[in-house]
Amino acid sequence: MSESPSPPRFPATRCPDCSLLYGHEAYVCRECGSETFEEAPLDGNGTVYARTTIRVPGSGQQGKEPFEVAVVDVGGAESVRVTARIEDNPGVGPDDPVEFVERREGVFYFRAA
Ligand SMILES: [Zn+2]
Repeated sequence: MSESPSPPRFPATRCPDCSLLYGHEAYVCRECGSETFEEAPLDGNGTVYARTTIRVPGSGQQGKEPFEVAVVDVGGAESVRVTARIEDNPGVGPDDPVEFVERREGVFYFRAA
């Protein structure tokens, strides 16, 4: 346990009609079909759910492979599951604590907590 300050808030959004939380941008709510969303920042503390190595990236990422992508559950009492990069320690694995750093070029970056 460290005494470091809280990580930045994670920029989640919420459907105002049915309260479903989204980590990645959504344009139509998969629950109720609403097309409006409101900001719902979450606690930036997260836990790694899974980690994988990308060896065949999509367009825009080619030439950077292989790289590590983690699936992170972020938030407190409420949480969302997002795909992210772990910037300082790509070796972190399932159940390891991480914290949100920032979003760059549409990619969420976390670091080991
Ligand atoms: Zn909804």
